[in-house]
Amino acid sequence: MSVTVVGSIAFDAVTTPFGSRERMLGGSAVHFSLAASFFDTVHVVGPVGDDFGEAEYEVLRARGVDTDDIERVPGGQTFFWRGEYGWDLNDRTTLETRLGVFADFEPKLSPASRAADVLFLANIQPDLQREVREQCAGARFVALDSMNLWIETARESLIETIAGVDCVLLNDAELRQLTGEPSFVRAARQVREWGPRVVIAKQGEYGAAMFSDERFFALPAFPLESVVDPTGAGDCFAGGLIGFLAAHPEEELDHELLTRAMAYGTALASFNVEELGVERVARLTVEEIVERVAELQRITHFVCKPVALRA
Ligand code: AMP
Repeated sequence: MSVTVVGSIAFDAVTTPFGSRERMLGGSAVHFSLAASFFDTVHVVGPVGDDFGEAEYEVLRARGVDTDDIERVPGGQTFFWRGEYGWDLNDRTTLETRLGVFADFEPKLSPASRAADVLFLANIQPDLQREVREQCAGARFVALDSMNLWIETARESLIETIAGVDCVLLNDAELRQLTGEPSFVRAARQVREWGPRVVIAKQGEYGAAMFSDERFFALPAFPLESVVDPTGAGDCFAGGLIGFLAAHPEEELDHELLTRAMAYGTALASFNVEELGVERVARLTVEEIVERVAELQRITHFVCKPVALRA
């Protein structure tokens, strides 16, 4: 089977207390594609400018990602984002966003991208997400990510887009902002009432919590001694999770399958933050993923025995 993703394909300038890069490959669709490529065929959809060169394509192609639907706009500039993190890596400041070729982007999917049975609408303008969703009418599972910018500037459109997907992934603060509910449990319930069966609250270095089929499941983030750059962690989490789901079409897409998918999302996100940009995931191995998921299972398992409690 295969996964189609639409989202930003970018150059990022990132500064964290542990390193910086003035210009590196980034973007929500790129981070997602690299992570999902460990599970299934990925078709990436999005625009780039003349400045997007062979070296950037090669990072994606080296992982087998189908780049045929990357639309190169002559004379255009690739989306650019500049962000900075302080000591609290959960807290980031966007210093600059240049839309470039995204300003006039009209998604046109090839037959191969349209035929994917799983679709991920990474973080872009919700109207564009909806256009892509309509072109992939036959997808059996559609998930969506978004961000505070769209909650603030295009809330109604975002809610309309959310109504047409199966799964929403948002930071817990974004879930609260979107719904106006102070409790993320109530916020998740509200979003599920709009349509999606599954709501996942991403909680940065604290992990992720999932609400599905009236059930709850949470995993901590993998404990790392050193985190260098959290940029793209959410997209890699989505890539691991959605890639895993796409690769298991024969299994019922129920709460149990989703909990296993959460483990792969958590593992992929943990590798991503170990180095700047896509550097770590671009040279990740299958063995490393398998080992990290096994370790994650060990550290989250506990034995429950009867205990005598005092009244
Ligand atoms: P994440 O850390 O998961 O939120 O994703 C970070 C990626 O999102 C970076 O590589 C940026 O290029 C990209 N990004 C930042 N702002 C936007 C935006 N307004 N629209 C689309 N992508 C963005």
